[in-house]
Amino acid sequence: AERTLVLVKPDGVRRGLSGEILRRIETKGYTLRAVELKNATTELLAAHYAEHEGKPFYGPLVEFMMSGPVLAVVAEGEGVIPGFRSLAGATNPTDAAPGTIRGDLGRDWGTKVQQNLVHGSDSMDSAAREIALWFPNLR
Ligand code: ATP
Repeated sequence: AERTLVLVKPDGVRRGLSGEILRRIETKGYTLRAVELKNATTELLAAHYAEHEGKPFYGPLVEFMMSGPVLAVVAEGEGVIPGFRSLAGATNPTDAAPGTIRGDLGRDWGTKVQQNLVHGSDSMDSAAREIALWFPNLR
């Protein structure tokens, strides 16, 4: 079945929103396959965010992702890859529609767009790649 990698970023964990975000995934009808609190390393984040290397926000993004634990989640279900991105809402919480995770729970961080509570894989290829990075032992 289709699987996606969700990350509750350090701002979400710090604000106590992990349970609320897991609840939204489950009430949508997706199944949790793996859930683990992790302290991301530079190496893991360099691989995870390889496509953004060299962009101006790359350094601050990696630093932010190491500012506290991340809740890594594998969610499963039909259409879960685009489905979770719909649940998450637009990248910038200020633009994200009400009803979405970022729209309902994200704060106006001004230019600090990297603090947007969650990550979700954006394609089949990135989901496979990211799940292998964050859960190398998952079957
Ligand atoms: P994600 O991949 O995290 O679900 P996304 O696909 O909406 O979000 P990407 O364009 O892949 O966003 O960027 C990855 C992450 O980098 C964003 O979630 C955000 O945290 C950060 N980011 C993206 N663009 C900016 C920016 N212009 N300034 C600061 N941070 C940014």
